[in-house]
Amino acid sequence: MHSTRAMAERAVDLCVALLYEEPSAESVARLLRAHGERAVAEGEPAEDAGDSRAEVMPVEGVRAEGVRAEGVRAEGVRAEVARAEVVRADDVAAMREAAGRLVEVLAAPGTDAAAGLLNRILADTARPPRLTSHGGASPWHVHVDAHDDVPWAEWFLASSAMALAVLLADHQRVPGGLCASAGCRRPYLDLGGGSPRRFCGTRCATRERVAAHRARA
Ligand SMILES: [Zn+2]
Repeated sequence: MHSTRAMAERAVDLCVALLYEEPSAESVARLLRAHGERAVAEGEPAEDAGDSRAEVMPVEGVRAEGVRAEGVRAEGVRAEVARAEVVRADDVAAMREAAGRLVEVLAAPGTDAAAGLLNRILADTARPPRLTSHGGASPWHVHVDAHDDVPWAEWFLASSAMALAVLLADHQRVPGGLCASAGCRRPYLDLGGGSPRRFCGTRCATRERVAAHRARA
């Protein structure tokens, strides 16, 4: 779940949702959950609110002795949805800006240009690497954002840039691209060893092949 590849895939999925679809706090929160993040849209009840959340995310005062009556506990659970777990409309706007910078990296004309763009993003957003288990809620993994409660956009930009940087270093090339289909241009990840991919998926590749065939006929 925290592999570099998974983080890069999450980054590309989020970029597509944020820039090529009509994102809402709900749709972004849903996508974050699909990638294993605890996220709720503003106003949305926390799906897994309950004892397990109360166990893993203790908040001072909420778990005080004797706070066990149902009503009081329900209120406590609500308060335990950490601030950074709630996705708001302004988070989506800030994440769109971050997505724009990440797509620029994937659209870079070459490895050197992509590395330069990533270095600029990392200089702007990344902090010294640190290990976190989110209070025991997940296995230990490395974060490069400032702390566990930074706004979604900061987390998204820092963690995605880090993942893309590691992949660039691993493969010595831009770790993705933009779909060559003129009507698509969506970003994709490209970690294959062979010749670089040109399309986001088989649908675009097939459409373009058929069009090229017709043009020749
Ligand atoms: Zn495409």
